Amino acid sequence: MNNNIINVAIDGPAGAGKSTISRAAAKTVGFIYVDTGALYRTVGVNALRKGIDTKDKPAVAATLSDISVDLVFENGEQKVLLNGEDVSAEIRTPPASMAASDVSAVPEVRAFLFDLQRDIARRNNCIMDGRDIGTVVLPDAKVKIFLTASPESRATRRYKELIEKGTQVEYKDVLEDLIQRDYNDSHREIAPLKPAEDGVIVDTTNLNLEESINEIIRIIREAI
Ligand code: C5P
Repeated sequence: MNNNIINVAIDGPAGAGKSTISRAAAKTVGFIYVDTGALYRTVGVNALRKGIDTKDKPAVAATLSDISVDLVFENGEQKVLLNGEDVSAEIRTPPASMAASDVSAVPEVRAFLFDLQRDIARRNNCIMDGRDIGTVVLPDAKVKIFLTASPESRATRRYKELIEKGTQVEYKDVLEDLIQRDYNDSHREIAPLKPAEDGVIVDTTNLNLEESINEIIRIIREAI
């Protein structure tokens, strides 16, 4: 273990702005940004491609025997590879989000992705975002932040993002999906979404993007 390596864990519910805020903060402090949701999304997309019911836990677990999931970083941008294929765009659709939430409740999936996350954090100063980074993956992270906001403000942001990308969606479906994923993520038996006991909670409901980024940078700089 290199003691000079600094890890920042950012957890929180879907749509709290974790990825946008973490990416910007990482750039400012010169760390890499690791989006762990992409890993669960990739396992979900693989199951969807194979026509598997993503709620069928044994079937999902069985898909792990012949896949490889890797993260590569090009100019600071993360790409996720499924059996060597770049699936970074395909994992961003609403069905992939729901599939990710389903497969993330499968213990074998969490175990399968654990070492990959730990290895990256051991070797790099990074901001890693997810649901269980401060509680399970990096319990010794120097900084732990739980980023949250009201479901409505999170759904509004996610809706705008999807519309800007040209994805046809209804606001009410985005809100329903988000509430469903929050419920799944916080009620699963293994590594449920919850703030780390020694973490800081940041609520961005009444903060704009710039204010949120500045707050995260301030917390990181204060701690390191
Ligand atoms: O962060 P993102 O929305 O891309 O994550 C997709 C899904 O992956 C989440 O809803 C959650 O179920 C799962 N996930 C997880 N643990 C993480 C990151 C994501 O269970 N560390």
